[in-house]
Amino acid sequence: MTSPLSILQSVFGYPAFRSLQESVVEQVVSGGDALVLMPTGGGKSLCYQVPSLVRPGCGIVISPLIALMQDQVSALCELGVRAAYLNSTLAPGEAMVVESALLRGDLDLLYIAPERLVQSRMLGLIEQAEIALFAIDEAHCVSQWGHDFRADYLQLNLLHERFPNVPRIALTATADARTRQEIVTRLNLVEAEHYIAGFDRPNIRYRITLKQTPKQQLLRFLKTEHHRDAGIVYCLSRKKVEETALALQQAGYHALPYHAGLPAALRSSHQARFLREEAVIMVATIAFGMGIDKPDVRFVAHLDLPKTIEAYYQETGRAGRDGLPADAWMVYGLQDVLKLRQMMGQSEGSEEHKRAEQQRLNAMLGLCEITSCRRQALLHYFGDTLIQPCGNCDTCLEPVPTWDGTEAARMALSAVYRTGQRFGVNHLIDVLRGAENDRIFQYDHHCLPTFGIGKALDNHQWRSVFRQLVARGYLRADIELFGALHLEDQCRPLLRGEETLELRRDLARPAARQQTKQRLPDDIDTALWEALRECRRSLAEAQGIPPYIIFHDRTLQEMCTALPRTVQAFGALSGVGERKREKYGVDFLQVIERHVQGGTG
Ligand code: ADP
Ligand code: ZN
Repeated sequence: MTSPLSILQSVFGYPAFRSLQESVVEQVVSGGDALVLMPTGGGKSLCYQVPSLVRPGCGIVISPLIALMQDQVSALCELGVRAAYLNSTLAPGEAMVVESALLRGDLDLLYIAPERLVQSRMLGLIEQAEIALFAIDEAHCVSQWGHDFRADYLQLNLLHERFPNVPRIALTATADARTRQEIVTRLNLVEAEHYIAGFDRPNIRYRITLKQTPKQQLLRFLKTEHHRDAGIVYCLSRKKVEETALALQQAGYHALPYHAGLPAALRSSHQARFLREEAVIMVATIAFGMGIDKPDVRFVAHLDLPKTIEAYYQETGRAGRDGLPADAWMVYGLQDVLKLRQMMGQSEGSEEHKRAEQQRLNAMLGLCEITSCRRQALLHYFGDTLIQPCGNCDTCLEPVPTWDGTEAARMALSAVYRTGQRFGVNHLIDVLRGAENDRIFQYDHHCLPTFGIGKALDNHQWRSVFRQLVARGYLRADIELFGALHLEDQCRPLLRGEETLELRRDLARPAARQQTKQRLPDDIDTALWEALRECRRSLAEAQGIPPYIIFHDRTLQEMCTALPRTVQAFGALSGVGERKREKYGVDFLQVIERHVQGGTG
């Protein structure tokens, strides 16, 4: 057997394992089961790819997403690994070729869609082949609580029964303790060792700003911070996706829409362009993203609030997989809170299910309203601890002023109560501010003791108070009566004067942000960087593969700083394995040579 480390170095071109990877690889190589929780970008793939190359036989990878499979397989083939996939996109003849390669022992790694794997014909084939391991990627898909549930995943427990001697490794990036338990039970992984990495993604900067004029806010964000970067903009509805993509196009960005209502061919062409071209912005519903392995997504922007922290973390996690600085940026406002609260109320399912949904939404709202470090809160939600505030989120970078909102909150709650818990925010603000309009007179609300007691705060400030009261669970938006607010039990201590309330002071206009630092480190020559990018782009184009499959930005940056002049020095760069050294060394060395000569000459 070749050692895992020598495979890592010669095939993948990396000098060393990350600490957790090393233990996982050791466990699986020796035939044990493993449950691996690592954040996106943590390096999960190597945990099964290296053991598949070390152990005799073919590693079978179960992956729910076709796009991901194709991407991984092309990346592996680039490294000279004998990899293939089986899914519905293959013609019967092509599938046959892959199957016979498997039987002949000519494959190191085979990616299979779950629905295909559990067919008895496929299982029969696997029984005849030599199998190194089963890797169950995106293992949280077995969880019925999560939004990625896949019924086919439930059948994967048969692997344990049919192939008791083949090690299994389940991997996921998103799993709270409950989901983790579900994975263990449903996949029958009771004997697996658990490997749990921290959830932190230190290179992602989290920011959640008050929603005012979302499109302008987005444009300003792009203009000042991501003018020539690839990114994803998430919207809740298809209509908003279309509108936003158009607005960005009109502003000169290379933006493309993506949602389930578009024809399949258009969707996949947009996806392909996002992967293959540089600086494409995908404007999408949550239909887009799972299994998108693009490493150089520099920002993820949310124009609408995700329903859970899991979803937020997963969606924002698509930024910065390469470890270089990236932004998670969101705008959020009162309407988001009301809308999501209502959607939850209407959702189907058992009371237990609804309660769980409510709790998850509450946690998400809590994250939006928090005035301390967002990363600490985010990690705490996943059972992780970060001792110090992170210094790389908006609340750390620009501390949020708070004010004593006790009195205002009491006024607001009292207005809700006195008007019979039948009115929405706008009318309640009219009551508090003493507006004299038809509706007020129609209901005799000018006679209420709360009428006009809140003139000291303006409309925006009252909206901010109501938003925070709803977000924190003092008020509930009614399902039947559109937007009418109700008191929750939680109000009592506040109304009785037994509790005080600190509220966020929303700035009318967020302070002009200092331009974030240049993405490229100082010691990198921009001209060389651009020349290397161009070299990568044309090599990628010639082969019809995404540029990052040739080299990640990281490796290009290393070229700029190390300035290798020989094939051997080129091969020492992180991310350059033997095969890529032979295939691309000369091309990139020429670019570097030309640059160095030009520089000195
Ligand atoms: P995940 O599947 O956990 O999101 P990946 O397996 O895609 O993460 O790895 C994320 C990035 O980290 C990739 O660019 C990968 O090549 C890189 N990487 C993983 N392990 C190592 C390592 N030991 N040394 C250097 N780079 C690594
Ligand atoms: Zn922070």
